Amino acid sequence: MNKFSASQFRQQFPILQTVSDAHQLVYFDNAATTQKFDAVINSSQHFYLNSNANVHRASHFLSAKATKAYETVRIQVKDLLNAHSEKEIIWTKGSTEAINLVAQSYGMQQLKLGDEIVLSQAEHHANIVPWQHVAEQTGAKIKVLPLDAEGRIDLTVAKIMINENCRFLAINHISNVLGKINPVAELIALAKAQGATTLIDGAQAIAHLNVDVQQLDCDFYVFSAHKMYGPTGIGVLYGKQQLLTQMPPYQFGGEMIKKVSFSGTCFNELPQKFEAGTPNIVGVVGFGACLDLFSGNGFKQLLSYEDQLCAYLYNALAKMPEVEFFVSAAPDIPLFTFRLKNVHHHDLATYLDSKGIAARAGHHCAMPLMSYLGVEGAVRVSLTAYNTITEIDYFIAQLQAYGQQNLGVEKAVSNSEFLSKQQILALFAKANSWDLKHRQIMLLAKQLPRIAKNLRSDKDLISGCESKAWLVLNKPVDSPLVYFQADSDAKVIRGLLVIILSVYQAKTIQQIIDVDIEQYFETLGLIQHLSPSRGNGVRAIVQRITELAASYL
Ligand code: PLP
Repeated sequence: MNKFSASQFRQQFPILQTVSDAHQLVYFDNAATTQKFDAVINSSQHFYLNSNANVHRASHFLSAKATKAYETVRIQVKDLLNAHSEKEIIWTKGSTEAINLVAQSYGMQQLKLGDEIVLSQAEHHANIVPWQHVAEQTGAKIKVLPLDAEGRIDLTVAKIMINENCRFLAINHISNVLGKINPVAELIALAKAQGATTLIDGAQAIAHLNVDVQQLDCDFYVFSAHKMYGPTGIGVLYGKQQLLTQMPPYQFGGEMIKKVSFSGTCFNELPQKFEAGTPNIVGVVGFGACLDLFSGNGFKQLLSYEDQLCAYLYNALAKMPEVEFFVSAAPDIPLFTFRLKNVHHHDLATYLDSKGIAARAGHHCAMPLMSYLGVEGAVRVSLTAYNTITEIDYFIAQLQAYGQQNLGVEKAVSNSEFLSKQQILALFAKANSWDLKHRQIMLLAKQLPRIAKNLRSDKDLISGCESKAWLVLNKPVDSPLVYFQADSDAKVIRGLLVIILSVYQAKTIQQIIDVDIEQYFETLGLIQHLSPSRGNGVRAIVQRITELAASYL
């Protein structure tokens, strides 16, 4: 890209014009996936209308056209990474599949009892679980590098931990929780000095840095197109040609063969050796439509604009005494993970959602990092080059408003009566936007009698609920009715518990089993506003209620 203009760039993402419940969408969940560039969306349609055919195999002109479009993108990616050859670029579904490919095809073959696979505390599950599997199967051991105070992999400790037993180093370039650039070049050099093989998980880095694999001298580098304005379902494994040549195929079938007979099969050359079956052709072509963004002077300007967003948001957050970061100093890319004092992360994310702000709450697919940091979860906002200072100002204003509301420690309301279903329906009939419904849920949360902390037992925890929630059933011997006590550490779940229990409290077992909860939620107009995980959480609560009730049948 020759020139970057923030306002023109933003205009090329039609979805950013979305208005929901009178709130303009503020999309701050770019580390999960970015929105799609106009040209990417159009290219799929253009490809299907003009060039659609299977690649490599047919002799007709359409196939030649499709193959050219598809293979041109491989060369673009080779150039993007400064790889030695396009044979080193393997298409995968995404970073996860690329790591699995290396784990299966390299790790499983090359690692053995006593070898060490070195990871860091800040890995995404995608760069932990495949290696755990390799370790279990081969007898290799996993070692975990700690982080320094700023949240980067601690080089001083790494110099000791990466020793002659280290056979494989697999680390992230930028953590999806901390937003800090790791000293990967130095870490790769440490591993190389011991003769170990290296993989860099670049899922969060590739859209925010210039990556040169020859300069880094890593053996493998992985990333996903959907985090760089491209389509979902397409990703890249870069691997040094010499290693890829030695590795056995990962999947078997058409496309990855040269010759097949019942006496044996001869595999194809690189890169097709690792690309069994019809590939995601339109995904690759769509990816090609956004690759120009990541080079040239325009990319430099884009990165400097992201730096401005990062500094502005960091300064604003750092001024708020109620904001708690987990590591010191500003992140290197505009990706912030934090908590508000005395606020559950799911409550904050739900509140932001009710104001049109898409943020992320939870463990961010990094549960080991959450325990390392001593938290159950946190809120993450991740920005990119189509976000604006105006959006940041709006976000900070909402955060301040929420922080003010939550300064007082909530008083436990004990033994209050549960509202009836009719009362709840009447309250929600008046709330005609998600904003108002959300406010109503938060008000209802105050009505739930709390279970004292020392009485919250693990056996009463509801599994499948993302926030912690407890449920206890009481059945007096002399009554056909049953009563529930419930609590959660998230306010939003307490509000939902009041709503749910309004149809289950003080009912007979049969009445409980007969409740049509989906219909009730439909009437309240809530289902469409609950994220899939929260929707599942609600269903998990209902399932637990019915299971407990059914145990009395
Ligand atoms: N690694 C990191 C650091 C990530 O942030 C992610 C996704 O969030 C992944 C790996 C997995 O990427 P994908 O789901 O596209 O395979």
